[in-house]
Amino acid sequence: MGRAYHIDRAEVRIFYHYLLDESRVDNEIKRFMDAAEWIKEELRKAKESIPAELKDHVYVLDTHMLILSDHNFFDAVIDQIRIGHINAEWAVKKTVTKIQESFKKIEDDYLRERVLDIGQVGQRLLRVLLGSPSGSLKDIADKVIIVAHDLTPEDMTQIKANRVQGIITDIGGRTSHMAIMAQSLEIPAVVGLRRASEVIVTGDHLILDGGAGLVIINPDAETIQRYQERKVRFELYQEHVHGQSRLPAVTRDGQEISIMANLEMIAEAAAALDYGAEGVGLYRTEYHYLASAKLPQEDELFENYREVVESMKPRPVTIRTLDVGGDKVAGYMDMKPEANPVLGLRAIRFCLREPEIFKTQLRAILRASNYGWVKILFPMISSVSEMRAVKNIYHQVCQEMDRQQIPFDKSISLGIMIEIPSAVIMADALAKEVEFFSIGSNDLIQYTMAIDRVNEYVAHMYKPFHPAILRILHQLVKTSEQSGIKLSICGEMAGDPMCLPILLGLGITDLSMNAFSIPIIKQIIRETSYSESKEFFKRIFKCETSGQVNTLVFEHMSRILSRDLMNQIFNHPGSGDQSSS
Ligand code: PEP
Ligand code: MG
Repeated sequence: MGRAYHIDRAEVRIFYHYLLDESRVDNEIKRFMDAAEWIKEELRKAKESIPAELKDHVYVLDTHMLILSDHNFFDAVIDQIRIGHINAEWAVKKTVTKIQESFKKIEDDYLRERVLDIGQVGQRLLRVLLGSPSGSLKDIADKVIIVAHDLTPEDMTQIKANRVQGIITDIGGRTSHMAIMAQSLEIPAVVGLRRASEVIVTGDHLILDGGAGLVIINPDAETIQRYQERKVRFELYQEHVHGQSRLPAVTRDGQEISIMANLEMIAEAAAALDYGAEGVGLYRTEYHYLASAKLPQEDELFENYREVVESMKPRPVTIRTLDVGGDKVAGYMDMKPEANPVLGLRAIRFCLREPEIFKTQLRAILRASNYGWVKILFPMISSVSEMRAVKNIYHQVCQEMDRQQIPFDKSISLGIMIEIPSAVIMADALAKEVEFFSIGSNDLIQYTMAIDRVNEYVAHMYKPFHPAILRILHQLVKTSEQSGIKLSICGEMAGDPMCLPILLGLGITDLSMNAFSIPIIKQIIRETSYSESKEFFKRIFKCETSGQVNTLVFEHMSRILSRDLMNQIFNHPGSGDQSSS
């Protein structure tokens, strides 16, 4: 529960148009003048602190300053307010549009370009007038709930978790990377609300219910009271499960389940141990790259990996190589815009295109392997030849390090993420190339179902319970068993309580998840029977729709788990609504 803080990541299009009565005109003009003065002051400060490498671009700031003082602009806005009796946002919008129209007729390219500057100044004024001036996440000083059209993974690296009580976005899905990062930061989030950033304004009082995917704007006293009570109950429950998080995850009939943590940032390592992780099943190394202003060098990467490995020692740490592209883009990498980024130069494809970046990371990982137990995981492998190309580079790096007498673990295990249907189809051949498979269910669902995992319009079709997903996972499990290769899962399905009977039923006993979900998953495992799960899976495997699977899973869980645990599962942020049409 908290106050909304509007961050503008998209063009400001929506604002109130209203007519003012005479008594409010002077005040509205002052509001506009204050906003313009505020921006000028910001521009002055920015000029003083501009980094040396950007000094050549200082003219952009000067241009904006000039526009703000220019009487064609400044006076025109004031006239619009005074004569038209309209609000300041409307007056800015009208003035900007008028100037832009007249610039469009100009032949000269340079002058025509200035139309962009005018548009940017207009946007900035609208943001200040609407109460979210800077749009920077670094500057947030109070505890707030962030409301934004969109947040990029790069934005998320700027968030200070102790200042942000919650996150609400218009776009995105439950497995989009910003949502995964919010989970890691333990920040409640509701994503994909489509119009939240148009409806909610800075200062609104909000209740954000991450479990239900619900946001209540300016609730009444009774609702606040009800949610406060729920919050207390939730916190008490958290304490209880947390207290048991170190107990092993063993089913009622004695099957041990290995529970690892997914990490995005080094700071999560301590919490992962605290929540009872037996190691790291997935270290998403790209977030370190996204949080850096420039490409990290080998020593910096090595220090980062060494710290994680040492803090987890003697437990294993599975370091996944760089998975950029798609919705994870670092400005300095100069990645060209692609029509379908998720189907484009992502993850291993990017690394094979940029072998120097890849080699640098591999060297850093290998150096860190000398300090504990490291495994290497390659993302988005789609074919045997691609894997051979990866291994080729890997062996070159190993040989180079040998020549330079740099020590590293010679028996390090190599594995691949199974997240593309072609990898499932070729699993028997891929099993000969590596030591282990890890299911990336987030992408495997995305690519099997052709459902963009960050697109809110198709989010309702993103279904781990779809029979096609059960079948593809079943095929993979069978091939892995026949090939004698170790199989684990590190996608969001692993930490979703509702998916647990399916994973156990499939015979998957190595799970890696966001640390926060570990205690509840362990608790459910302790109340579950492995052999019953296998029997249960035979029943759902016959289903033809995700709706049928959903009903059976719900019935099964209600039968085997206590009512208290069921209630907690439905309040747990990791429980997806798998219901289906
Ligand atoms: C996955 O795709 O399931 C996965 C774990 O990788 P990421 O979410 O980082 O794409
Ligand atoms: Mg993935």
